[in-house]
Amino acid sequence: MEKIIRSVLAAALIIALTGLPAFISGCSGDTHKTYIPSSKIEGSSLYVRKVENIPDDFILGMDASCVPALEESGVKYYSFSGEEQDVYRTLAESGVNFIRVRVWNNPYDGNGNGYGGGNCDIDNAVEIGRRATSYGMKLLVDFHYSDFWADPGKQFAPKAWKGMEIEEKTQSLYDYTKECLEKLKDAGVDVGMVQIGNETNGTFCGEKIWFNMQYLFSAGSKAVREIFPDAKVALHFANPEKVTNYQEYAKKLAYYNVDYDVFASSYYPYWHGTLDNLSQILSEIAETYGKQVMVMETSYAFTAEDTDFFGNTISDGGNVAKPYPYTVNGQANSVRDVIDTIVNRTKNGIGVVYWEGTWITVGTESWEKNSELWEKYGSGWASSYASEYDPNDAGKYYGGCAVDNQAFFDAQGRPLESLRVFNLVKYGNETELLADALEDVTLTVDLNGSIQLPESVNAIMTDSSKQQVPVKWDITDQDIEAMKSGGVAKYTVKGEAGGMPAVCYISMIEFNFLKNSGFEDGDDNSWTVREIGSANELFVEKKGTDSLTGDWHYHYWSAAQNSVEFYLEQTLDDLAAGKYKFSISIMGGDSGTYEVYAYAQVNGESAGRADMQITSYGNWDTGTVKDISVSEGDVITVGIFVKCSGAGNGAWGKIDDAMLNSQTD
Ligand code: CA
Repeated sequence: MEKIIRSVLAAALIIALTGLPAFISGCSGDTHKTYIPSSKIEGSSLYVRKVENIPDDFILGMDASCVPALEESGVKYYSFSGEEQDVYRTLAESGVNFIRVRVWNNPYDGNGNGYGGGNCDIDNAVEIGRRATSYGMKLLVDFHYSDFWADPGKQFAPKAWKGMEIEEKTQSLYDYTKECLEKLKDAGVDVGMVQIGNETNGTFCGEKIWFNMQYLFSAGSKAVREIFPDAKVALHFANPEKVTNYQEYAKKLAYYNVDYDVFASSYYPYWHGTLDNLSQILSEIAETYGKQVMVMETSYAFTAEDTDFFGNTISDGGNVAKPYPYTVNGQANSVRDVIDTIVNRTKNGIGVVYWEGTWITVGTESWEKNSELWEKYGSGWASSYASEYDPNDAGKYYGGCAVDNQAFFDAQGRPLESLRVFNLVKYGNETELLADALEDVTLTVDLNGSIQLPESVNAIMTDSSKQQVPVKWDITDQDIEAMKSGGVAKYTVKGEAGGMPAVCYISMIEFNFLKNSGFEDGDDNSWTVREIGSANELFVEKKGTDSLTGDWHYHYWSAAQNSVEFYLEQTLDDLAAGKYKFSISIMGGDSGTYEVYAYAQVNGESAGRADMQITSYGNWDTGTVKDISVSEGDVITVGIFVKCSGAGNGAWGKIDDAMLNSQTD
């Protein structure tokens, strides 16, 4: 306690003397550590299951790169007790011990207009570093080596380095890194880790081959070793779900003998596979190459709502994995489970960093006013000025914040209870279990199928467990009839269960009832051939150039003008009652006299046929049999009949893309 009082007094004194806020002052000494709690924060309602065995020096990081731009835009942040407070202090007081900041070489146009995304140049990093250091946290410097966002989709070299040969670019990267790190050192910033490149998935700083990339990685690493010999050097990749890519990256780095300490990965639960997969691939790399590993970026939504009139990357109904509800406790559970995975299930796991947990709305009442601030202060993801550098993405879609629903602060800058997770994981905080949200229901229904909404839904509890609760859907019989006759469409049905809003997403689709309908599964016995005339070749073939779609099709050929005659068909006995249509396509040649048709049978009786033409290579003809009426329990056979007398070098043909769909017209 005495230490806290001392540091507060020191800060007050500095303000009095200089008029500058405390964070500019460069405090030093062990007083800093008092901001990061060394015991459990009591009284939180947040449910947190303890993570056992967390080492004292485990990195619990927060990327908070946009804060200065947001503050210039008028954003204020508050403490848990409701007073305006430096957000970096609030982070430290919540258990965060590392602040990560991205650095772009020159995120400005020729007139000094910022590209946005926080206009994160080295001066921004110095300011953030000073503040982080003053609250006892270390800085993690994330060099993109670009003038704007670098990620798996883009790794543009800085404007000033464009067109450089690799030797010159390597020297420039080394000089730039050294110069930036010296600025941080001169400012008294406690740099704990430096990453050379951001999500460098096989491309880096405009280079696309590892032979060149290795020089850049090594040059950056060398500069770090010289200026901050105690800091760790990290390399950072994305998409751990692509396991072989990660194996390849680690192998290349070893082959080229790149000097680094930490193999770091992004892990966004929506897109990046399971935690089991993450721990396996990182453990494998840690063991094989003797490296430390960590999660360099993760995040999770606490709400599906947007607050700044600029759409978010994650919202309701998206086609992404949703392992936790979009709630405050869901967000905390996601972070807790990533930490647990890296601490207890991953070899040499040293940390987890949350991405941009402080990026919130600039807070005006309209898109127009927000946009003015984004443009002026760079507080949105990109300003219009970025279009000169990134015309295809920023140039088209520039605007505000796409992750305000994944921050740890609400739209007014007040911390969410989930921010406590960085402290509470060490101790556990198993509060009374409450229903936190309802699990979304997703139904995919064929046009002829019946729409049956479930009578109960899962409530997701604050510990991620599930309990069934009865649900009442807000839907009438007329609504269901309208969906059934509405063709292919998507619907959202709302309801209520246990006092919470329930959602059911219904997709009415034209389901293809045939198995291996385009032969892409190879010869799997889904199709039956009844051969009448001899053919020299009659089989499922893999040859993309001869297929209507995909790589596979059904092939026939008969040498020396021998005749070909066969049926290729599938039989089904489990179709729902209704009207169906069948279609199949063919191309071929040298047929001589021929008869080819698509057909359908119901209980052995013909239910229609469609004659088809064989003309020449590449000219596909599709035969469609419509109005196939099916009653419950009927046996349906659909297929194609081919009979050719043969000509030239013998009749040949290719059959592909069979479809049996419900018919609603
Ligand atoms: Ca937004």
